[in-house]
Amino acid sequence: MQTADRIAGIGSAIFNEMEILKRKVEERGVTVINLGVGTPDRPPAPHIIQAMHRALDNPNNYRYPLEGMPELYRALTDWYKRRFGVVLDSASEVLVLMGSQDGLAHLAMAYINPGDIALVPDPGYPIYACGIKLAGGEVYPLPLLAKNDFLPDFDAIPEGIARRAKLIWLNYPNNPVAANANREFFEKAAAFGKKYGILVCHDVAYSELAYDGFKPVSFLEAPGAREVGIEFYSLSKTYNMAGCRIGFAVGNSAVLEALGRVKSNIDYGVFRVVQEAGIAALEGPQDCVEENARVYQRRRDVLVDGLAGLGWQMPKPRASMFVWAPLPPGYVSSWEFCLELLAKAGVIVIPGVAFGESGEGYVRIAMVQEEEVLVEAVRRIGESFSFGSS
Ligand SMILES: *Cc1c(COP(=O)(O)O)cnc(C)c1O
Repeated sequence: MQTADRIAGIGSAIFNEMEILKRKVEERGVTVINLGVGTPDRPPAPHIIQAMHRALDNPNNYRYPLEGMPELYRALTDWYKRRFGVVLDSASEVLVLMGSQDGLAHLAMAYINPGDIALVPDPGYPIYACGIKLAGGEVYPLPLLAKNDFLPDFDAIPEGIARRAKLIWLNYPNNPVAANANREFFEKAAAFGKKYGILVCHDVAYSELAYDGFKPVSFLEAPGAREVGIEFYSLSKTYNMAGCRIGFAVGNSAVLEALGRVKSNIDYGVFRVVQEAGIAALEGPQDCVEENARVYQRRRDVLVDGLAGLGWQMPKPRASMFVWAPLPPGYVSSWEFCLELLAKAGVIVIPGVAFGESGEGYVRIAMVQEEEVLVEAVRRIGESFSFGSS
């Protein structure tokens, strides 16, 4: 049986290889510390879990949910207004998703014809390019480089490419590079979208995982953003709801209608129990969000300061769940360094090149273990590597 051509270019060879190696290391009796996959390790706040308990007992919650509950739309629009000062029309400018990934993956089905070009950050969160390829489109990579503060350089995009491109993906705070964008950048992005008739799609999954008092902004805060684009928000990271996913697409109503049309043929909505959890999360006390960010901030400090003490320097992220670390002195291949780190120290991080060519020279470290475990990871790295003194 022959698989379809469209899946030939997608896959996760690196992750599979890493998994095989991990098992080999575990066979030696080493407990591997996994700082690879970016999945939140903390639970949702008790009031969110309690809301799910109550909703589970309601027999009316077991039909096809279809559209989102009005209370959920209201909770999300209230949250956007409070948090970003962005006013959304709940009838036309919000779409409920089965996790934001649902929208990130399916959007291309609504906008990309075979051969169409999409502008995708490199390195980037894999689903952007994957969605484009599944729809038969072509990916034009936008390098995210340290010298540009890890922002795409719109002026470097050739005129012919900009004219042909149908959509652009943006993601700040960014996974994997842990960089941020300000409102001025989003204004430029909106103007770029308008000039070339390009749909601007922004993924804001990490807006609430921010440190040192920093408050990331929404793309929709930029004037003109709603005319050219949409934004994806997720409760997975903010409220640790990755195992009961719910997300939203907000912004341009025509785009949401098109995405909604694709989705209405594929899924029948988010389990109402999860919707109730989402309402409780968005409307309930927000100190759990602050506490969550504090926990990640402490982890960041333990990790980055600890590694700096070993002579491996990297910038401290102001937001996101990740540290984007340049390879330590003496290394050039992120893939080889990661294999060595796993074999010698039993620590998994992801080679930057797994997120795109421009990710070479870096590794992504996910701060998804408790402080003590990160201390242990630093200890093991110090024991098995010598980077020279800082
Ligand atoms: C984790 C993550 C998401 C969240 O996806 P869900 O489907 O809502 O769980 C979206 N975008 C990025 C960049 C992420 O890292």
